[in-house]
Amino acid sequence: MKKLYFITGSQDLYGDDVLAIAADHGKEMAAELSAAMTRVSVEWQPVVRNADEIFSVCMKASADPDCVGVIVWMHTFSPAKMWIRGLQALMKPMLHLHTQYNERLPYDTIDMDFMNLNQSAHGDREFGFICTRLGIKREIVTGWYGSERVKAAVRKFADTALALDLSRGMRVAMFGNNMRDVAVTDGDRVESEIRYGWSVNYYGIGDLADMIAGVSRYDADEKMREYADKYVIRTDDLESVREQAKYEIALRRFLAAERISAFTDTFQDLHGLRQLPGLAIQNIMADGIGFAAEGDYKTAALMAVLCRMAEGREGGTAFLEDYTYDLAGVPTELASHMLEVSPVFASARPAIEVHPLSIGGKEAPARLVFDCAPAKGVSVSMVDMGDRFRLICADTNIVEPVAKMPRLPVARIMLRPEPDLAVGAAAWINAGGAHHFVLSTSLDAGDIRLLAKLTDTELKEINADTRMPFGC
Ligand code: MN
Repeated sequence: MKKLYFITGSQDLYGDDVLAIAADHGKEMAAELSAAMTRVSVEWQPVVRNADEIFSVCMKASADPDCVGVIVWMHTFSPAKMWIRGLQALMKPMLHLHTQYNERLPYDTIDMDFMNLNQSAHGDREFGFICTRLGIKREIVTGWYGSERVKAAVRKFADTALALDLSRGMRVAMFGNNMRDVAVTDGDRVESEIRYGWSVNYYGIGDLADMIAGVSRYDADEKMREYADKYVIRTDDLESVREQAKYEIALRRFLAAERISAFTDTFQDLHGLRQLPGLAIQNIMADGIGFAAEGDYKTAALMAVLCRMAEGREGGTAFLEDYTYDLAGVPTELASHMLEVSPVFASARPAIEVHPLSIGGKEAPARLVFDCAPAKGVSVSMVDMGDRFRLICADTNIVEPVAKMPRLPVARIMLRPEPDLAVGAAAWINAGGAHHFVLSTSLDAGDIRLLAKLTDTELKEINADTRMPFGC
């Protein structure tokens, strides 16, 4: 299990007795926080008293592959010049927990010894100053460590720290390049690796075609049985379904062999494939592997990161596209894609159907067709502004379709963005938000805010309080 280091700051000035109590308190607090975590443990570290000990624990955290982040707090005063060298060496996300051991002030017994020992209100401000002065992007949570509110905030930090742990060193594959002439899906891959750790590389579709040709009949049969278990098969064209089964098997082998967490394809580069991968990618996306169409590596990588963040929560997270509107009544958007909508949003068992695509010039691909269950969520888009990346996060609602769409053979999601479509879409377009995004019903704007903060990424939020925007 991955872990968060629990680091208690102090100084030599107070003597061994006070430092021993600070250590006992810290151990108890770390154990209680650890018990409240679901995805990480919280590991107590010896109280740090001087610049060398601070540097040493920061180096240890940075070098420990199981450590995804640090929780730091000051039990006493800890002069912050002592922290400069250590903080400069700290490579892991930080949660500054502004807390104290005691919840209540012991009015009857409080004396100067108590004041001397319990002074995080004092010491955490000194620590906060040096973090701000150094420009360190960190989460700050304030309150008694034993409260449910604080524990929930630490769990959220852990989710983001785990997502960043995946992000750093994540490998992303592009089968083919960015769709020809498309602007918003393109981006600076070098800068993506510097800022987020995404190693984004091109792979030839022909190599995948060879792997597809190598899938045995036995393995394809087994995948067909999995499809029959999970989905309703609403087609007689089982050979087309089998073709997607082979794509899925080959893709999963490729992803495993190359340690890939997110990938893209493009319908303009499918040489050697008879169909555009549809069902294959839908079934893969449901496992939280990042995907986006048309060479959109940013959205694919963002999906993988957000799926890691959302692991274990209710709801779903996946790539989606804006398509068309119902502007009558309460305006609603139909979001979908040519094929690749993740079944994590399905309201009922999806059906496998085979229909021709109107673009791309390939054979009719098998795909999952379904409607989606109503839910609250966020739409998250990442765009390259030339000198920086920008995240756009919009609160949205999946709503019930007002009518059936019997002739539309793809998955469909009806969205009603906050505060309404008119303002929500205007604000999104004004911010440069893409027609590609990650929809999540597991995450909220607070999660995305924390991700943006810890990665020092510009964020534009759109929600119920948004008014019609004027200028960027
Ligand atoms: Mn598109």
